[in-house]
Amino acid sequence: MADTSTDNLNEGLFQLLFEKSPGSLLVKADAPRFTIAAVSDAYLQITSVQREDVVGNGFFEVFPDTGDDPNDENTARKVFTKVIETGVKIDVPVYRFDIQDTVTKKLSEHYWSCSNIPIHCSEGKVAYILNTVVDITGEVKAKQAAIESENRLLMAADATGIAFWVLDIKTADFSFSPQMVTIFGHQPNAEISLSYIRNQVHPDDMQNIVLTAYNRALVSGQYEYEVRIFWPDESMRWIRTKGMVLFNDKNQPERMLGTIVDVTESKRDEERKNDFIAMASHELKTPLTSLKAYIQLLEVKLSASPDPFVASSLTKALNQVNKMTTLIHGFLDLSKIEPGKLHLKKNIFDINKLVQDVIAENRVIAGTHSLKFTPHCEVKVNADREKIGQVISNYISNAIKYSPKGSTIALTTEIIENHVSVSVADQGIGIKPKDQEKIFQRFYRVEDDDMKHIAGFGIGLYLSSEIIHRHKGQISVQSEEGKGSVFSFTLPLA
Ligand code: ADP
Repeated sequence: MADTSTDNLNEGLFQLLFEKSPGSLLVKADAPRFTIAAVSDAYLQITSVQREDVVGNGFFEVFPDTGDDPNDENTARKVFTKVIETGVKIDVPVYRFDIQDTVTKKLSEHYWSCSNIPIHCSEGKVAYILNTVVDITGEVKAKQAAIESENRLLMAADATGIAFWVLDIKTADFSFSPQMVTIFGHQPNAEISLSYIRNQVHPDDMQNIVLTAYNRALVSGQYEYEVRIFWPDESMRWIRTKGMVLFNDKNQPERMLGTIVDVTESKRDEERKNDFIAMASHELKTPLTSLKAYIQLLEVKLSASPDPFVASSLTKALNQVNKMTTLIHGFLDLSKIEPGKLHLKKNIFDINKLVQDVIAENRVIAGTHSLKFTPHCEVKVNADREKIGQVISNYISNAIKYSPKGSTIALTTEIIENHVSVSVADQGIGIKPKDQEKIFQRFYRVEDDDMKHIAGFGIGLYLSSEIIHRHKGQISVQSEEGKGSVFSFTLPLA
């Protein structure tokens, strides 16, 4: 250690330098009195004492240690004694010593950081201790306030069942609030790792939802999904997570943070609602089927009727029954779309042939609209033919619904990289950009005067997008208000 002896210093110069130094105080190593030999202006100011009351007095006469905790190893007396015994500098990063206000005489809470440097005399013994202090009350209080506000947030989150998590993308370091373990069905304070939590996610959801959402979040910055998890007792629960990605100044993703809530109850409510819709739709289907059969029978029986009203009424009645059947089928499909309930029956087939079949089925409802198809050469896909047909049929019936009579609806298939793209273009009312993002959501319908007289429930496109996503394809729309829309989807080639 450098020799910090004062023996050779000019006493007047030393005094001046010392008094101008930041928060410093020099005490003699004359334990237990520890006489104060010098003090700087800054020290006097921050401790609210006068030089004449300090210099020459014992340290503990000026700064009494009567309230010190006997078990605290950082009290000034213990530290000074240790510095003399060991001859080594001792730092105390934080300690509390309250200061008396000169005017009000009231004690105010203060925190300090101090350093105690031994000053050796020529024989090598410690002659003085240089005690330098910095008032860190502001920092300590700010830290306390931050901890308090974090605790308050944690308590509020705890009360509402929300857990917080943070993931370091590079190191995979994962930290979370205590609520997390309860959401994943463990005892409070149980130690669980990120891989353990990942293993609790339903394997299908991990593959289809979590990984896709994660990769999407690295680009978009937003992270959100609902998945099924298994508790250690093997019961199944639902969780919803929502979060964001923090990027560094090079725009590389660094950390992800978010919240997790258990949404099992609301999912069960939704399931009950779905079951009800499924049951009601199923019950409605049977009488409707026989109604249709009777109308068709009547059409045959009365085909020779001379009254044209009979034939046209029966055609209209049949049309209405068909419309209602489509709606009811839509509701039935909707109730089956929940994860785990939509089963794909995949086969290899030619998509152009399917488009032609669906056009043929829709010719009657197309009325005066003309349906034109420009196929690409034979394209095979491995998909659920009926469900893909349902998507194309939905695109066509929307194009008919939302475009003027007599206009053309153009269908095309084309190859884009290793996917086939199927498009349906109409010359109809078009869709505003703000609605284009939302029309694939469940029950979303554009609120417009034009739309009021067009019937629908806003489920067709939702079902279509679910079907296409389950086939690992993409669904999209391009549209200009008043000019028309092009609805497309892609499917991987077989
Ligand atoms: P529905 O047609 O039964 O309301 P969809 O889910 O099929 O339900 O469509 C959702 C909404 O998207 C429709 O209400 C409509 O506002 C808009 N939309 C769909 N297809 C078209 C189209 N071809 N042209 C204009 N708007 C459309």
